Amino acid sequence: MASEIPEKQWAQVIEKTGGPVEYKQIPVRKPGPDEVLVNIKFSGVCHTDLHAVNGDWPLPTKLPLVGGHEGAGIVVAKGDLVNDIEIGDHAGVKWINGSCLGCDFCQQSDEPLCAKALLSGYTVDGTFQQYCIAKAAHVARLHKDIPLDAVAPVLCAGITVYKGLKESGAKPGQTVAIVGAGGGLGSLAQQYAKAMGLHTIAIDSGEEKRKMCLEQLGSNAFVDFATSKDVVKDVQAATEDGLGPHAVILVAVNEKPFQQAAEYVRPRGTVVCIGLPANAYLKAPVFESVIKMITIKGSYVGNRKDSAEALDFFRRGLIKSPFKVIGLSELQKVYDLMHKNQIAGRYVLDMEK
Ligand code: NAD
Ligand code: ZN
Repeated sequence: MASEIPEKQWAQVIEKTGGPVEYKQIPVRKPGPDEVLVNIKFSGVCHTDLHAVNGDWPLPTKLPLVGGHEGAGIVVAKGDLVNDIEIGDHAGVKWINGSCLGCDFCQQSDEPLCAKALLSGYTVDGTFQQYCIAKAAHVARLHKDIPLDAVAPVLCAGITVYKGLKESGAKPGQTVAIVGAGGGLGSLAQQYAKAMGLHTIAIDSGEEKRKMCLEQLGSNAFVDFATSKDVVKDVQAATEDGLGPHAVILVAVNEKPFQQAAEYVRPRGTVVCIGLPANAYLKAPVFESVIKMITIKGSYVGNRKDSAEALDFFRRGLIKSPFKVIGLSELQKVYDLMHKNQIAGRYVLDMEK
């Protein structure tokens, strides 16, 4: 069933680093031999998209740029070499838009580490457009019973925190601190952690996020970093024996918590850095790090298998994370709220509005 593909489409485009984003019509491109064209129905807005607008990172974006990398939709065209996904299938466009599939890292399923990886909404145009191109090998396969709005945030935030939790080595029954718990990655991290049998301590700020973490997302404790007199003590006190969490998942967009985590993590514990605040450095006391035998590591999205697993958790009904739907035309409003840390959960763009 070939659907009508228009020549023009609505998109949000930045012409120069720093923005603004411009809502306008741009041409629909044709997929190359190993690519698919996905009619995006919904796209999540990740803080990475705001880093891309602001030019925060030591990695330049393409310009002009269509951002976005949490796009859920329907395959409407495909190249001649694509034979394992069909027109009409549901698909997700992720941060990793494509990779070489042949290098040392790709061979070991570490595709995010591929030097030739294409990044949706960063080095290639992403999902803030109605028709987005991605390499067929990398688009997420979505069962048709999965709602395209609710699944959108899973395509980056969900996959990333699921991978980060696996990298933490935390085992069922143990405790994980989620730093930045009220945001997009943080809210999903609590749901994945719970589904994996972990206790969670949520760290963020404000009444709305506190309520969401404790009442909706099942966290066992909430530490407000803005009002706590001693975050380190409060986080440790939130564990049953007072020794601190077995792992820390850092998804905050601020340097300070990256300096604190090594202090409150439990001896033998693991600190997993995922958030990417601009110009930030990791710092940990050598003495405590050594005598506590702690591990500090980074975690970067996930490979195709992590993606399929994270989506399977969602399909089984284990992941229910709060999101609000707003029109594609209103993307700037989402960035304004995100900049002020005022989003509890995720915003998802409806591409028809
Ligand atoms: P978000 O804006 O939705 O959430 C960030 C949260 O951090 C907010 O709720 C904010 O209140 C909270 N926060 C700020 N300062 C804090 C502090 N001192 N202590 C605790 N919490 C604090 O952002 P998001 O979309 O969830 O993304 C988070 C970060 O993760 C971004 O930097 C993004 O670029 C990065 N990211 C990394 C990967 C990866 O693969 N490593 C993937 C996706 C996103
Ligand atoms: Zn993202």
